Amino acid sequence: MSRMLEPQQIQASSTAPDFFNLPPPDLFGHRAARLHALAAGHPLGDYLNLVGDLCQVQQSLLDQPPAAPTPNPDRLLLCQQHGLPPLAFDSLVRDGAWQPWLEALLLRYSRPAQPAVQQALATLHDAAADQRKVWALALLSGQYASVPSALVPFLGAALQAAWCHWLLDMPSLALTPCSSLSQCPACGSPAMAGVIRHRGNQAGLRYLVCSLCTCQWHVVRVKCIYCDQSQGLQYTSLATDRHGPGQAPLRAESCPHCHSYLKLVYLEHDASAEALSADLATLALDLRLDQEGYLRQAPNLLLAPGNA
Ligand code: FE
Ligand code: FE
Repeated sequence: MSRMLEPQQIQASSTAPDFFNLPPPDLFGHRAARLHALAAGHPLGDYLNLVGDLCQVQQSLLDQPPAAPTPNPDRLLLCQQHGLPPLAFDSLVRDGAWQPWLEALLLRYSRPAQPAVQQALATLHDAAADQRKVWALALLSGQYASVPSALVPFLGAALQAAWCHWLLDMPSLALTPCSSLSQCPACGSPAMAGVIRHRGNQAGLRYLVCSLCTCQWHVVRVKCIYCDQSQGLQYTSLATDRHGPGQAPLRAESCPHCHSYLKLVYLEHDASAEALSADLATLALDLRLDQEGYLRQAPNLLLAPGNA
């Protein structure tokens, strides 16, 4: 029996998926709205609300960027010509062009009542540029022991806003895959989570979300992004009465070969879900997988491991 194809279906099946997608310009506002919605009745509600407020400030930074130097366009071009991530975090973080973004964040964020948060903000405010650079480099390199955990969400938020702005601001952006599937082609940072798309010619495809610049890149499904194995992968979700088996909007893909896992958001089962907020709202799943001996390699820059 033959089936008529609509013109857009023919086009969809004849084109390769886009390798990367830029974040929508209202990404941080979306994160804020999701976090505030998820906070209601959640055991970590206060924390989710605090991060939600922080994402709202990130959106304001993106909408009205602070006066700050931009990365040298010649170097960006040179990186692209050599197939390197143009916004490579390890060199750009040393440049310090992100520092005005932290200043602006500290200025625009209205301090909540919690003394611990006020103390963290004061520490960041009073720190010299060199000290901030040392912390930022430690955070982006995954060396969490070298950065006070209370500073992480604020430092991470400022870095994300700066890199996202630079990403959206780059003319004629061309990206090529890195040697590791888990590495962002735009800035070289590790993925925070994956999203399974549900619409149009990207329906059913997996895109990974960068922990830093928020770029998304395509990686085939049912493949461990850390060791490239496909056999024996398991999918785990938190038991909730809202979702039947195989319907959970957030599942962890865990690998029996390298004992790593990655969280995946299935938009088909929750069209308004978003990776960063979904990740922070399901830290109980991380605890469970940790107890089962699985290692989380995906950073969330608004959370210091072990300090929910
Ligand atoms: Fe990135
Ligand atoms: Fe693996």
